[in-house]
Amino acid sequence: MNLFTRSKQHGDNRPIGFLRRYNILPFASMILILAGLSAHNYFSQKNVLLKQLETDNINLVHSFHAALTRFEAIRKAVNLQVLVKNISLELEIFEFRYLDRNGIIVNSMFQDEIGRTFDRPGFRETLQKPDELGQFYTDNRDMTPVLAISYPVYANGELTGIIDLAVDISDLNYMENSLRDAAIRHMQRDIRNLLKAIAGSITTSLAVYETLDYYEFLRNFTDTSKNLKQISIVAPDGTIELSSDFLLVNSTANIDGPARIFSGIFLYEHGQPVYRITAPLPNMSHGGAHEHTLLMLVNAHEYAKNNHALLMTAVATTLAGILFAVLISYSIYRVNMQSVKQERDRLEREVEARTEEIKRLSNTDPLTGLSSRRYLEEQMGVEFKRAVRYNHSLSMLMVDLDHFKKINDTLGHLAGDKVLSEVGRRLGKAIRETDFIGRYGGEEFVVILPETHASDAAQIAEKMRELIAERPVFFEGRPINITASIGVAELNSSMTNYEEVFQSADKALYISKESGRNRITCFNPLQTKQPV
Ligand code: GH3
Ligand code: MG
Ligand code: MG
Repeated sequence: MNLFTRSKQHGDNRPIGFLRRYNILPFASMILILAGLSAHNYFSQKNVLLKQLETDNINLVHSFHAALTRFEAIRKAVNLQVLVKNISLELEIFEFRYLDRNGIIVNSMFQDEIGRTFDRPGFRETLQKPDELGQFYTDNRDMTPVLAISYPVYANGELTGIIDLAVDISDLNYMENSLRDAAIRHMQRDIRNLLKAIAGSITTSLAVYETLDYYEFLRNFTDTSKNLKQISIVAPDGTIELSSDFLLVNSTANIDGPARIFSGIFLYEHGQPVYRITAPLPNMSHGGAHEHTLLMLVNAHEYAKNNHALLMTAVATTLAGILFAVLISYSIYRVNMQSVKQERDRLEREVEARTEEIKRLSNTDPLTGLSSRRYLEEQMGVEFKRAVRYNHSLSMLMVDLDHFKKINDTLGHLAGDKVLSEVGRRLGKAIRETDFIGRYGGEEFVVILPETHASDAAQIAEKMRELIAERPVFFEGRPINITASIGVAELNSSMTNYEEVFQSADKALYISKESGRNRITCFNPLQTKQPV
């Protein structure tokens, strides 16, 4: 198929015909606009979905933060609260702290010493001899007399820590010695009971504390959060420190440096649509001062499904638009083709009619309505060939009005025209259906007589001469007398073309003129002059 009709006037290569014919440009624009709108719609809706996913998961991160803070608070509380809470306020507590079995201060009524190594002179040595623990002793601290004890706490038969307690006994100093000793003994019994209770409480708390495990916490959070697949806490060096997936711990997370802000990305992991989140995780109490990163994998099935549905809708809209445009452009094309065809048929008919008319006009002499010279010669050619081929006879008359110039000169051109058309009419009367008569030029007429011998032709010529001469032609009421001279010739075997018949008739006509006009002459090749 020739798609491109080159535009010759412009000399460029614009593909005009095809595009115009099928209305491609408007419909291509329509399809482009539609596809553009669909794409725009798709991308903006997709953005909304993505934004939704992000918002949902920012909330998830927030709730994780909240849960983590609570978890850590509980962890802290379980570990420490018992110590302070169970102290009987009837005693004048002077110092109170809990140390682990290595002498590190785990909790204390003096907040700033927590975490340090307990360094009271002599304590290290006592620690080496656990038997000496649990003995009351009196001491002077900051000028205050105290009753002190380092009380061992055992769990499952092993030393786990030491409660270090000092009670202000300055009030007892004013007592009598015997009363004072009794009071101290009494106090020792109370303190020992209290410490026993505290120790029990501490061992229970420590057991609970052990169960408050980060792994369990992350597992729990993951299991109870809808769509959350995995949650990991990544150390600043990129290793996964904690994870709901135990196997990932200590592996390297695929993140570039600690996250500064929340960021989420949709991707496929092992063929599954997931939303991968990284977010900063400040204030992780277990991990020291450095910022950790939260890494979450969220199931994004819903998003993928909606996204797919959106894409399908966009594609379907565009396809429907294309189909619509093609159908419209096709039907317009059909209508166009139909009207083009009708117009073409109409033009063809018109051209045919005009051609007919032109032919008729060129075959007809306008003044007389007889055949034109052109048509005469054409017919003469045809008749000549036919006569030669079938050995038929063929004659021809050449008629010339006598002194016609005079009529023009004396009566005017219009009178001459009137005479010419009248002569044409009269000549027409004398011929048969099969004969041709035409105006050869000026005031000369030619008659072709197929299948006619010279003798019959001469009779016809004579009849013509009489018809012309018998009555005058009237012009503006005035009679004009006219006569004509006629030359007659017949085709003979020596002639090789129709012009020779013409020449013979012309010669005969010349003889008619020469011998006095208003007469006919038959051409005789031997005797050029033959008066009638
Ligand atoms: P002859 O008897 O020798 O034929 O003399 P003639 O005057 O007829 O011959 P000539 O050929 O000298 O004159 C012909 C004239 O016919 C010349 C021209 O003015 C006139 N004529 C030719 N065509 C037309 C025409 O269409 N209309 C009119 N009115 N006159 C024409
Ligand atoms: Mg003449
Ligand atoms: Mg003449």
